Amino acid sequence: MDIPYLQRRYLVSFASRRLPHIFTDVLVIGSGAAGVRAAIEAARHGEVILMTKHAQTESNTWHAQGGMAVPTDAARDLDAHVADTLAAGGELCDEAVARDCLAAAPRHLQELREWGVTFDTDDGELQLGREGGHHKPRIVHADGDSTGRAIMLGLLDRARQTPNLKIFDECFALDLLTDPPEAGSDARCVGALTDHPRFGMQIIRARTVILASGGAGVLWRETSNPPVATADGIAMAFRTGVALTDLEMMQFHPTTLYVAGASRSLISEAVRGEGAKLVDRNGHRFMPDYHEMAELAPRDIVSRAILDVAARSGSSRVYLDVRDLGAEFFAGRFPGIDRACREFDIDPGEDLIPVFPAAHYMIGGLRADMEGRTSLSGLFACGEAACTGLHGANRLASNSITEALVFGARCGDRAGREAADDDGKFTARDVDWTVQRSDRTELDLADIRNSLRSIMWRNVGILRSGPRLAETLEIIQFWGRYVLDKEFFSDPGGWEAQNMLTTAWLVTELALRRTETRGVHFREDFPQTDPIWKRHQIIRRTAHQLVVE
Ligand SMILES: Cc1cc2nc3c(=O)[nH]c(=O)nc-3n(C[C@H](O)[C@H](O)[C@H](O)COP(=O)(O)OP(=O)(O)OC[C@H]3O[C@@H](n4cnc5c(N)ncnc54)[C@H](O)[C@@H]3O)c2cc1C
Repeated sequence: MDIPYLQRRYLVSFASRRLPHIFTDVLVIGSGAAGVRAAIEAARHGEVILMTKHAQTESNTWHAQGGMAVPTDAARDLDAHVADTLAAGGELCDEAVARDCLAAAPRHLQELREWGVTFDTDDGELQLGREGGHHKPRIVHADGDSTGRAIMLGLLDRARQTPNLKIFDECFALDLLTDPPEAGSDARCVGALTDHPRFGMQIIRARTVILASGGAGVLWRETSNPPVATADGIAMAFRTGVALTDLEMMQFHPTTLYVAGASRSLISEAVRGEGAKLVDRNGHRFMPDYHEMAELAPRDIVSRAILDVAARSGSSRVYLDVRDLGAEFFAGRFPGIDRACREFDIDPGEDLIPVFPAAHYMIGGLRADMEGRTSLSGLFACGEAACTGLHGANRLASNSITEALVFGARCGDRAGREAADDDGKFTARDVDWTVQRSDRTELDLADIRNSLRSIMWRNVGILRSGPRLAETLEIIQFWGRYVLDKEFFSDPGGWEAQNMLTTAWLVTELALRRTETRGVHFREDFPQTDPIWKRHQIIRRTAHQLVVE
């Protein structure tokens, strides 16, 4: 059977010479912490366009609560912070990357403060929170539990004042343009095909492109991520043939507010860091039965413990007990979470808070070095869309904003320099691409999205097994034949569905191949960690073939 995910190099038919062109030195896709930080840096070297598919504030970063992990006293805490990162990472972290990233973190924190981001302090000293897997408090936060929002307001403000930097909102990146279209050692990324509700399809030609398009949480029915996290970047990168890695490593957050019918909102790990306890429906505190760090054990362990307890007690949820913290303290330290609870008539001072795990952070992504370089010339990646090796098989809490800032800045610098060094003309050849017309039945895209999210949650979620993964692969392949054969939709939701299916197929393929348990990847049929698997899986597309190394 033809695999639909391998056939398409571009999602739509187009002839580049007939489309309006915009030219820039560096194109950045995504307005989260990684993209904005990269754009600010790149603009020191030339003209930059930063594009984002909805409002500038729509991103995972905006919703980050707990904070940013920083060895604030780098001389004394760096080694311990690196050790915690490696311990969580299931032997797949790159220690050099971890050391380099975390050593740079205090400088980036200082920079944010200089750019006007106010972090929470006590008597002038930064307040430090603690989260799962950290052996000591080292998480800085802002506005209690609105750290992401505070950081993004500071970064976007800085970006708006940066000369050479233009921001395009509501501009959807459909595909990365390469010359030639099919990957080979000579291929180079030369821009992107974009769609805008007012200007329609356009081509943005760039000397270098930075993909900072974030994560993939929306692929799972239960997720902490906002609706933009549909894995577009991973899917469009796959179509170019660039190397992707560790896509089976999806981190599930143990505690999202679990109220039937409502979207899941995160209850930050910092709440457990302040002393909240996890209890079952009978009020029994269960985490000490599972791990010596109890509620602050690494996320994979807490998530599996919650599933286990819920299954044993025949319940669909467990509970966070924050009553000992006191209603006043809780509302002051976690104002956003307090509000979210009260919207559902839950008074954290009096009531238990119902919680359950949800898909949270895509550890895998475009294989990238510390300067964001990928296997495709001219294409860079940073933030959640990239995989640098910092997180290994399990991300240590609050290391991701740190990574987005540190490697975002490096990536912007490198892409900006490379663009500045290339003072030639925009010489890429025209692209003429035709998608074969298909008469297959049109499936309802909303149904497909829901069904995909549901099966990903059930079969490619926290607990996985070979037969279920194989079955899921078959089903996703089948859907692909009916969804990937279409090209134009009434809005970008159709292309998002195509990207979600493509990425789901890649995640499932790699999860099936990894016949062991490691970090966030738990195989019921292979419950042990296998030293043979102490390696990354790299996946890419050649012209119509899948290559997995
Ligand atoms: C609820 C929540 C809480 C979190 N809390 C923390 C925390 O406390 N500490 C921590 O370190 N991490 C936390 N994380 C994780 C962290 O926020 C993210 O990993 C990190 O911010 C990712 O930054 P990013 O810039 O790579 O991606 P994002 O911030 O997700 O930005 C991606 C951008 O790309 C855009 N985009 C996507 N596709 C396209 C397309 N096709 N065309 C154009 N634009 C596109 C999106 O609209 C968005 O603007 C949290 C995540 C969530 C969801």
